[in-house]
Amino acid sequence: MVNQIKQLPPEIIAQIAAGEVIERPSSVIKELVENAIDAGANSIKIYIEKSGLDKIVVVDNGSGIDRLDLEISCLPHTTSKIFQLDDLLAIKSFGFRGEALASIAQISHLLIKSRASDANYGSALKIKGGQIENLQTVGVPIGTSISVENLFYSVPVRKKFLKSLATELRHIIHTVSFLALAHPQIRFSLMHNNRQILDLPKQSLDFRLRNVLGSSYFTKMISFKKNDPYFKLAGFIGKPELARQSQDKQFLFINNRHIKSKQINNLIKSSYKTLLAAKHHVPYVIFLKIPFQALDVNVHPRKDEVRFIDQNQILTFIKQSIEEILFKDNLTFNNDKYFYKTSSQTESPKLKLSDPGVSKNQAIFDPNHNNLISNILQLDKLYLVTLYKNELIIIDQHAAAERINYEIFLNKFLEQQGQSKTLEPGIELDLSLTDYEIIRQNREQIKQAGFEIKLEKKKLQITAIPKIIKAENLLQVLTELVDNLKTPHKQTKIDSVTHSLVKQLACKNSIKAGQYLSISERQKLFTNLLACENPFTCPHGRPTMIKTDLKTLGKLFKRS
Ligand code: ADP
Ligand code: MG
Repeated sequence: MVNQIKQLPPEIIAQIAAGEVIERPSSVIKELVENAIDAGANSIKIYIEKSGLDKIVVVDNGSGIDRLDLEISCLPHTTSKIFQLDDLLAIKSFGFRGEALASIAQISHLLIKSRASDANYGSALKIKGGQIENLQTVGVPIGTSISVENLFYSVPVRKKFLKSLATELRHIIHTVSFLALAHPQIRFSLMHNNRQILDLPKQSLDFRLRNVLGSSYFTKMISFKKNDPYFKLAGFIGKPELARQSQDKQFLFINNRHIKSKQINNLIKSSYKTLLAAKHHVPYVIFLKIPFQALDVNVHPRKDEVRFIDQNQILTFIKQSIEEILFKDNLTFNNDKYFYKTSSQTESPKLKLSDPGVSKNQAIFDPNHNNLISNILQLDKLYLVTLYKNELIIIDQHAAAERINYEIFLNKFLEQQGQSKTLEPGIELDLSLTDYEIIRQNREQIKQAGFEIKLEKKKLQITAIPKIIKAENLLQVLTELVDNLKTPHKQTKIDSVTHSLVKQLACKNSIKAGQYLSISERQKLFTNLLACENPFTCPHGRPTMIKTDLKTLGKLFKRS
């Protein structure tokens, strides 16, 4: 028999390893910036072109790399940060695997210029696809500048998996945001295609948070500090009114390292108990400090996750602390306060029987007509069941109400297309760096929907809004819009902005699960759903009804 197992050639091994560390352009930035922080820099400048695909340059004023070190810095597993096995048990630096530069060097054209603090001159190292092309002496300031060009040129597959340039840029802004939040004592700047995205001076944590998260959110967060003999917890958590579906404003730092932890997320969410709706999350920035020995950071190739030596103890500490903070702040949350009260609310978006005000395609239930639906059963205060035209129909009352309201609001919105009301005085909102970027990327569509927004240095000056929206809800409307725009909907008939606004209105004004419906309310819901243009799904894409005809039912009972 022929031997089937062979060791992979070194180039393939290197490519596989590189793929684990560098997933997208933002991973390069994370690795380079962390190296600069490990080198003690207090100023880090980042320049990118074409969302990092053409070029990424990171310039720091840290300790620099001397020539002998530079020569081997891009070989696999070369690091100056750990020397022996024991060091792995208490890692204080961000890097320790010696893989980042080696990985980046494999899949790009790399140029490192660096001068160590005790050297009179610097060196420049040029590498292409992992091979050293050139090492020479250059005159440069103390510190390091690393330029990465043509990322993924040798891994076309990886390129195919990248998202749009706009999305990749948002990943980069998100990455720089969390690095900047953890290091307010460092100056950060980020330029993209010659546009300054951020320029944060060395500042206090409070000011850094305002700049990164936006003061519109920051002012609605509760600050806290909690110490016990082993652990320290400090940071800011959002009041329930800031809750939203996306989790991109949840920043957890463990020993200043940005960590993704579903477990801690769930724990925090559960501390809010009923203050949050099912799929909603509050923003937070939490710094947890624990003894280095109590933590294993060597569990994930990009060091995105960690393992605790005594998990229960830490989780209990976090949960108790957060609950205490929320309790102290005496948060009481009245859901209704955040619901929309549009002008249409007074005339009730819930359709009335034979309401002449509703648009034509809403064939309204006519009690004299022979399509009368009787005997509608409500199950579990959630499902309505009936027999209609020889079909057994089950509908989800909330999904159905959303669909009906969606079509009503959509018609209304389209009728008023582009009509806005002026805000006097205008409203200024200061959003997070990532939110701002999404608004900027979609500003034309947003204007067409009836907003008048001026973008000024990360701030929004809003002077007019679509008629159908209430000014009090503006921050919430815009943040939800931002969340929706991150994953544009696929429907072609209307644009993503309109879809998002109308969806919000529909959802907030709809009958909820758990609500008892009278017989006539059940009939209205049924008839109005059947009259919808698209009765089978709610605006979020979930089904509104399930049906089966009597023949199929008969077959199931082997009657045919
Ligand atoms: P690691 O950070 O895990 O040690 P890297 O591949 O990221 O591995 O970097 C290899 C080594 O190159 C580092 O250990 C460090 O000595 C040096 N280095 C990289 N970037 C810088 C920098 N910006 N300033 C100073 N030294 C650096
Ligand atoms: Mg590193």
